[in-house]
Amino acid sequence: MMMLTRKMIEIRSLLQTVEQADSLTLPSIVVVGSQSSGKSSVLEAIVGHEFLPKGSNMVTRRPIELTLVNTPKAHAEYGEFPALGLGKITDFTQIQKTLTDLNLAVPEKDCVSDDPIQLRIHSPNVPDLSLIDLPGYIQVEAFDQPTELKTKIQALCDKYIQAPNVILAISAADVDLANSTALRASRRADPRGERTIGVVTKMDLVDPVRGAQILKDRNYPLRLGYVGVVCKIPQESRSLFSRGSANILNAITRNESAYFNAHPESFGESSQVLTGTPNLRKKLMHVLESTMSSSLATTSEAIHHELAEATYEFKVQYNERSLSAESYLAESLDAFKHSFKGFSDQFGRKEVREIVKHELDQQVLNLLAQRYWNRPVETLQPLDKLSESVQDPLESLPKADPENPLWHLKLDASTSTLTKLGIGRLATTITAQSLQSSIQSLIHNSTFSNHPFAIEAITQASENILRDLSFDTSDELEICVKPYKYRIELDDNEWKRGRENITTVLKGELHDCEAATKVVEEQIGGRRKMKDVVSFIDRVRKGDVVLEGDGIGGAGGFSAALLEKGKEALFLRDRSDIIRMRLAAVKSRQCSDKKNKYYCPEIFLDAVADKLTSTADLFLDAELLSKFYYQFPRVLEQHFRQLDDSTIERFAREDPKIKRHLDVVKRKELLEHVLKEMDSLRQLEAREKRNSSRG
Ligand code: GDP
Repeated sequence: MMMLTRKMIEIRSLLQTVEQADSLTLPSIVVVGSQSSGKSSVLEAIVGHEFLPKGSNMVTRRPIELTLVNTPKAHAEYGEFPALGLGKITDFTQIQKTLTDLNLAVPEKDCVSDDPIQLRIHSPNVPDLSLIDLPGYIQVEAFDQPTELKTKIQALCDKYIQAPNVILAISAADVDLANSTALRASRRADPRGERTIGVVTKMDLVDPVRGAQILKDRNYPLRLGYVGVVCKIPQESRSLFSRGSANILNAITRNESAYFNAHPESFGESSQVLTGTPNLRKKLMHVLESTMSSSLATTSEAIHHELAEATYEFKVQYNERSLSAESYLAESLDAFKHSFKGFSDQFGRKEVREIVKHELDQQVLNLLAQRYWNRPVETLQPLDKLSESVQDPLESLPKADPENPLWHLKLDASTSTLTKLGIGRLATTITAQSLQSSIQSLIHNSTFSNHPFAIEAITQASENILRDLSFDTSDELEICVKPYKYRIELDDNEWKRGRENITTVLKGELHDCEAATKVVEEQIGGRRKMKDVVSFIDRVRKGDVVLEGDGIGGAGGFSAALLEKGKEALFLRDRSDIIRMRLAAVKSRQCSDKKNKYYCPEIFLDAVADKLTSTADLFLDAELLSKFYYQFPRVLEQHFRQLDDSTIERFAREDPKIKRHLDVVKRKELLEHVLKEMDSLRQLEAREKRNSSRG
């Protein structure tokens, strides 16, 4: 008998975890009563502990789904809130506090919420029961309570007292039963009194003869009958207990049976009235079991129906592909590692070389502009300062005298700037940045792209590894290039390569300048207009035109904005001219020989940059890339494999498509599991029937 209820309650709890399936449930006992009718006292007498929220300020605002689990062999009594994951709580004052907090979290203006709190209590002293405690009915709202409170409580209770639930209607003996809100409500929902148990509390507060009469009420006859109880904790016992730990069951029953035994004429065996909490407990167990039993067939049918729908969706939408959060994570991780492997196979020394060389090409161009071709810089000055700018001795470069210390100094200083640029840090940083952005695009093209959690974790992992590796790598690389800071020897081949490369770089730069000029030309409003502005500025620069004032508000009939654009165009024109001139120089016969290096600083500096790049790419390949390629997948593996189940679940559910898929799989598995449990319940039932017919 006991086993059956236990099993059914388990099935009921399982069904509660099936989402969006309110219809899939087994009946429970719903406890209703007016405020102060003694409802909490009855529930606490059944559990044997004070654990319900107390206080005048409407402390029960949410239904409490209370599952009692009898654990005959265990000593410990504890409660747990399955939805909160707080673990086993052995201190019942703590349970009371948690319940109070959960109830008070419902805003006062909402009055009540129909979102139930689930609480399971395990104890050797409780029967296997499933009860739902609801907010107590009130007669009228207090002055500080919302006016719709009364109707909201009523609506909430009405929702729960529908069939097939059993109604435990609590009324106090010292209030006329005809005025009992609980009985009136249950009469509306259960007019034939077939599934209501009447509990009359505070029997000690009325005359015993009157008390017995109440229990025999014929006004609203109940098939399951009335039970009279005295659930008050005796004052003297109360002070003996340290609250929250001791079991109050014995004290209550002793006090209660003392009262009923003292009035055998009213409550004795011949009185035909049922009294006492132990009898109430027995009745509840019995009624719950038979009610649940008779609901099994319909519930099972409903589950079959839901399962058929879930199976259909699984088949049609997901092609019966099973999925779990763990398998999804493992697959995603494997795919990501695979794509990373693909990336690492094609990003090696050659690619690092390109990145570093490109960066150094830019540095060389800047150096040349600063030290050799500095003329375009002057156009960036205010208009009225233009004519004072120093003219650049660029024209004298082709005649650079190898015996003249000035040209030695210029080239040595430029070379030194390049070699002392901090190439270790620069090359390491840009390579690390490039790796980092490749990782970002790998993430972007992977299933992880829909998972902020994973994006963050992977980004962090690569950033950390790269940061750690960069630290040593940049220092060591700096040491490797140290010799170049003192002496640079070039052979003919290096010179030749430098000449070819700088030609390409200069052509690229020229192309960029021309493209930028086109853009400025469009902004100015056409080639003709640009020519006019540029020639005006050019004349100012040469001193052919004398400005009246500083030219800040415009000059020569051109607006200030137009003059700014004109300066930009002039800058670009100068730069293009110089680059063209230098391209011609680099191509000239003079520059084919490395002994003319003072004429051709472009080639020399390019060759220096090339030497630096060769050292950097070799070193970065060995120190940064290989180490990163080795560490990164391992760190990811370690990170993702050590996540706990709930984090993995949360991760997988970040993607709505995966969430839906997981939900369907979970729902299907859960429903299949429930049906299996129901099957074993049926077998258990049959066995019990056989046993009892044999007995
Ligand atoms: P609830 O508001 O319906 O939950 O009512 P409570 O269980 O909090 O009880 C209201 C008051 O009635 C409390 O002071 C209880 O101590 C008291 N009470 C409950 N049951 C009994 C009983 O059987 N006899 C007596 N004398 N007092 C009771």
